[in-house]
Amino acid sequence: MGHHGDCIFCGIVSGALPCFKVCEDDRTLAFMDLFPVAEGHTLIIPKRHATDLFGMDSETLSAVSATSLRVAAAIRATLAPDGLGVFQLNGAAAGQTVFHYHMHLLPRNEGVPFALHSRVRGDDDALRRTAERLAGALP
Ligand code: AMP
Ligand code: ZN
Repeated sequence: MGHHGDCIFCGIVSGALPCFKVCEDDRTLAFMDLFPVAEGHTLIIPKRHATDLFGMDSETLSAVSATSLRVAAAIRATLAPDGLGVFQLNGAAAGQTVFHYHMHLLPRNEGVPFALHSRVRGDDDALRRTAERLAGALP
């Protein structure tokens, strides 16, 4: 599993870097995106470093999917967005900026322009509160 060089998400997995955690299991970790495009914007990662989809195996991908299903249910139960974007970018050309595989869950609401990234850091208290609400609503 181990710390992979200067990978920030490996740093989060090892506990060297903080995150607003929603849940974790043996293989995966879910936490709030620090620059949320919308309230509830969550990332799900494999604990074991993979740069992108091409470094993943189907078992790990299934584990990420299973966690994303649980978090999606919690997002729906707490925030009730009009829709939910599930996306995942591979390679700088696709817009990937953190090179440790991650799946985005992005609540979507009618009338809000579509964006994949934000440059505005989320407020710590708001992120913590949202993480706690989601954690408390997991199926
Ligand atoms: P991507 O473009 O798919 O690689 O997205 C990387 C995401 O990670 C962006 O949405 C960033 O806001 C988010 N991000 C970057 N650093 C952190 C961090 N330390 N904790 C949580 N999210 C982060
Ligand atoms: Zn990593």
